[in-house]
Amino acid sequence: MRKPVIVAIDGPAGAGKSTIARSVARKLGFTYIDSGAMFRAIALWAMRANVDLDDLHKLEQLAREARIEFDGDSRVLLNGEDVTAEIREPEVSKAASKVSIAPGVRRALREEQRRIGSLQPVVMEGRDIGTVVFPDADVKIYLDADPEIRAGRRAQETGAAVSEIAREMEERDQRDRTRSEAPLTQAPDAEYIDSTELSPEEVEEAILRVVRARTSNGQGH
Ligand code: C5P
Repeated sequence: MRKPVIVAIDGPAGAGKSTIARSVARKLGFTYIDSGAMFRAIALWAMRANVDLDDLHKLEQLAREARIEFDGDSRVLLNGEDVTAEIREPEVSKAASKVSIAPGVRRALREEQRRIGSLQPVVMEGRDIGTVVFPDADVKIYLDADPEIRAGRRAQETGAAVSEIAREMEERDQRDRTRSEAPLTQAPDAEYIDSTELSPEEVEEAILRVVRARTSNGQGH
């Protein structure tokens, strides 16, 4: 039997990955997986349990023990509890980017991400999906946008001040790009899409075009 199709979407914070990945998955009838939510859930658990974010061993243990579930395409459960809203808090964003440096955490989550992708066709978004998690993904997209635009969009979503968001995003992107394990970078065979001047519908159409070109008919198997 052929392996299920994987559509990998990577890129910096606020490039519009979640919105677009979700709608692309819906159009294709694939499962949408937000890998960032997994790092966020581990970060939330670590914060609640007062685990030092430098304690790599303990963080890996949490990542191995955590039961993270995606309910439909929008709710995230951590050990059975709905943490959808809480993992979007700014402190959790920051903690997630720190936690994601830990090689053991990455290893544990990577195993889970690969397991999910082996069971069904997925659209998975994150930072290292096309480079490390699924280097053989059928479709790879690197979604980017100008930093001011990305901060502006996030501010509109959350109601926070643009300057504050821009600073927080820059710090997070810098950490994601420079970490030694699975840093944010464009895979050589990824299609680069700059969404700065595109509407969500245009980005979605651009991605669906790549999917059609790289899979025989856009079907999952
Ligand atoms: O995508 P999102 O902004 O929710 O991700 C939160 C954090 O999780 C990122 O800043 C990044 O540090 C980490 N992450 C990662 N690898 C992924 C997805 C997210 O390191 N595949």
